[in-house]
This record gives sequence, C-alpha cells and structure tokens, in this order.
Amino acid sequence: MDFTSNASKHCTINNEIKTLKALYPHDLQVYDVPPVGEISLIEFQELSLDRLKVLRLVEGISLRSDLKTLEARKESLRDSLKKDGLKYYANLIYGAGCKSSLEVDLQARRKDCISHFILRLAYCKDKDQAKWFINQEAELFKMRFTSLDKEGVEQFLAMHRLDCRHISQEEKEQIREDLQMSTVRVASIDTIDFYKVSFRKVIDLVRTRKVYVERGIAYVPRTDLISLCISYFRQKLTVGMEDAKECLSNASDDERVMGYISALPGTFSGMARVVWSTTNTPLEKLEELSRTSYPMCMRSLHEALRINHHLKNSGRIQYGLFIKGIGVSLDDALRFWREAFSQKIDSDKFEKQYAYSIRHIYGKEGKQTNYTPLGCNKIISSAIGPGEYHGCPYKHMDQSSLRQKLCAYGISDFDAKEIIELAKEGHYSLACTKYFQMLHKQSPEQPIFHPNGYFAESRKILTKDTDGMDDSSQTANIKSERIVGTPRRNEAVNLTPRTAERSFATPTRRTENVHTPKIRNVYKTKSINIEKLLNDDEIAELMGDG
Ligand code: SF4
Repeated sequence: MDFTSNASKHCTINNEIKTLKALYPHDLQVYDVPPVGEISLIEFQELSLDRLKVLRLVEGISLRSDLKTLEARKESLRDSLKKDGLKYYANLIYGAGCKSSLEVDLQARRKDCISHFILRLAYCKDKDQAKWFINQEAELFKMRFTSLDKEGVEQFLAMHRLDCRHISQEEKEQIREDLQMSTVRVASIDTIDFYKVSFRKVIDLVRTRKVYVERGIAYVPRTDLISLCISYFRQKLTVGMEDAKECLSNASDDERVMGYISALPGTFSGMARVVWSTTNTPLEKLEELSRTSYPMCMRSLHEALRINHHLKNSGRIQYGLFIKGIGVSLDDALRFWREAFSQKIDSDKFEKQYAYSIRHIYGKEGKQTNYTPLGCNKIISSAIGPGEYHGCPYKHMDQSSLRQKLCAYGISDFDAKEIIELAKEGHYSLACTKYFQMLHKQSPEQPIFHPNGYFAESRKILTKDTDGMDDSSQTANIKSERIVGTPRRNEAVNLTPRTAERSFATPTRRTENVHTPKIRNVYKTKSINIEKLLNDDEIAELMGDG
C-alpha cells in the first residue's frame, strides 16, 4: 500500500478545507469579497441556475398567504429545496454560524458566494431586475439569519464590525423594568439576550417602539437583531450592485460568458412559459416536429420508439413529460403510446402495464402531481442502462455514435466535429446550442437549459420564417404564432427506417463512462419509484396546475 500518496492526499484535502474555512468562515455571508480563481463553464452555469431557482422559490414562497411566519416560509423553502435536489441550500438556510468544518458545508458556502456574484452580474444592469434580486436576496438572508445560534450571531456581528454589543447580566438587571416594558412581546426578558447599538442603526425598531432607548443607545433583543443586520446587508448589496455594473463593463469579452449572463434573468421566467402548453398539439404533428424542432435527446427517443416499438420506463418519463409540455393531451398521449407499442404489446396488456404510468405523468394517478417536463440538468445527470435511449446524447453517447447521428441529421463533418469537441469537454448545452444553430441557421434567443425551451425557440424561428403556413393549434408557448408546416431544412435527413435503424442498431452509448459507483445501482432490477423520478424536476416550483 502506498501510504505516502495517501498521506499527501490527506494533506491536500486538509489544506483545501483550511483554505475554504479561511475564505468562508461563516454560514451567513454578506458577499463583500468577490470570489477569485477559476471555474469551469459548466459549474458556472450550474451554480447560477441553482441560485436562480432558489431565488424564484423564495419569491414564490413569500407570495403565499398561507405561510404567515418567517419560520413557516423557511420550512416550506427547505422542503422545496430538498425536493428540487438543492440539499446544500436546504442545509445552508439552517446554518448555525461558524461551527462546521465539514468539507460539504464549506463547499456549500463557496457555492453560495460564487453563485451570488454571478447573479449580481446578471441582475445589475436593469434597475427593476436589480431591485428584484436585492429583495429576494434580502428575504433569503432573513431566513438564514434566524437560524444562527447565539455564537453564530455574535461572530457575525464581530466579523462585520457592527458595533453591537451583548449586554451583561448586571447591565440587564439595572434596566430590567425598562427592557420588560419595551419588549412586551417577550414573556420574560430572562430568557432572551439583549444587545446595545446606536439607535440610528435600528430606526425602524425605534419608530415602532419595539426597543428601549437610553442616551442614544437602543437595547435590542436578539430576535430583533435582524433589523440591524438586514439593513446592513441591503446597504452592502446596493453598493455591490453598482460595483457589479462597473465590473460588467470591464468584464471579459468571452461571448459565451457574456451572452449567458445577459440571458440569465429571463431564463426561468421564459422557461415557465415554454415548458407548459395549455393548448393541444395534434399527434399527427409529432413526426414532423421531431425532425424540425426537437432537441437531439427527444428526437433520439422518438426515433427509438418508432424503431423498437417500446421505450423503457425512464425513456417514457423523459419523452412523455416532454410531449405533455408541448401540448399533447392525456387522451392523445394514451393513444400515442398505445399505437407506438402496438406491434409488441396488445391493447389489454397496454392498459394493465403502461396506461397507469402515463396517467400518472399527467397527474391523474398517485399523488396527482402535475409534473413538469425534465430540464437539461436532470436529463444530463441521469444514468443510462443497456437498451435505454433517454439522457442527453451529448453526455451519454460515445463519439462515434454521436458523429453517426449528427451526420444522419444532415450536420456537416466540420460542424459535427465542433459539436463533438464541445460534448467531449462537457459543454453539453453549448453542443446542443450549436446543433440548434446548424439546423436553424441562427442562434436561439435564450440559452438552452431545457428541451422544451429548445422546442419553443425552434418554433419561434420556424413559424416566423413561414408565417401562415401552419394550422397547428400548438400556440401556447409561442403566443400568437403558428407552427410551420414545411420545415425548410433537415428534410434531407428524414431517416428512413433503415438509416434510422443503423443509427440505433449499434448505439454504443457511453454507459461505461456514466457508471460511476454512485449510479451503478441503476442496473439493479429494482422497481422504479415513479414519484421520485418525476418529482425531482428542476422547475416544478414555477408551474401552477396546468
Ligand atoms: S442539452 Fe438539454 S435539450 Fe439538448 S440534448 Fe441535452 S438534454 Fe436535450
């Protein structure tokens, strides 16, 4: 055994923990020091999207009239974060202060800091967007502040030199009556700590007569310290947004980063519109749409279904939710899957084995959740077993199968090479965007983070090009626009069964690369928990019941 290398590895990890601890000493940050260092484009995107989801959740929760207290809102946020796979945020909002030295907690602080600064850049340009960002961040800060224990609060006050001191028991005794009278909401002042601070820093508490003031000093119970800290945080953030504006104007000219940052504020609000369609897409259109407007992940599934007359459960969920999102009704979906399976599965068997899960997808069975289509993050992180076609081709296909497929779809060798390079480097959404550009001869307006977003971007372009050529009723995600009847390109790559068969016959998908020990379980033939698979949707919180 090589003890030397183990020891040095251990040493490196310890050093890393020390560095993280020095950089991020407290669970609660005011983000006064921008992060320094390198970060991959993928992590950059992931972290910013995670935070955007968190802020959207915070916004949604603060609008709910049934959640009356901050604690209730916090619990609801924690549950939603866990449901959305954002456990590190769920832990962060309950962070008590400086105690933890666990790497996972320190990494969470690091992500918290980086993601905040990315969003600051994205939201600083526009006044309204900046206001929205500050408000959500402040609400998040409030929730997190209430989780701090006594030590955590004092460390926070000391770190930020807030000139706010804990009063001793003797001092408390001297003004006991005044304190008790000024803090009527507190049953006994013996159970609560008081801090003294200049009254100017807690004007709102003074105005509402919530604190005792003597000679310009306000005596603030710990429960009300948030008032001081939140105005400090807001102040910092407001100045920080101005700094960010300046940074942005001197920022890198890397188009990928700048384009991404500018599109970020519209990402989920746009997605909320594109993921859900309230009108009907006729089944007859799917074949054509799969060639013109499906991203490669869905096109692959559609083709695999046509060729194999079957899809395994994960494929049915990924594709079933996608077509639900583009406006295929439940009745049509049942007909679609029944017909697609008909060569292998008779109607009776279909009713018994498959109809339930399709109705489930539409929220008509089980918990009756109105599930929304899976986003790229979820699809990219899924594991693929033998004979399965779901997932993201840029992540899960081996290079030669990907090349073969791109070529079959009419992408030139030169462009295919570029797409494969991007995929190889882990830039899946950029590879997908490049594919989009090749097929549409222009870029999507929004970056691709969601298959249904890809679809909506595609329809926007194709319907514009052939205005009036289509009578499809699928208009919900592209309001007042109509679907194109004659796609202008890609017809040449309309796969005949033979060609398609070839591209699917030997799909040496990169299952072996995907099988890290963590996801190896996928091969076990345990029953699949449909609730779990479906609930882990990245944007479910944005969707009302359709
Ligand atoms: S990047 Fe997203 S939309 Fe594109 S193929 Fe992959 S999962 Fe599908």
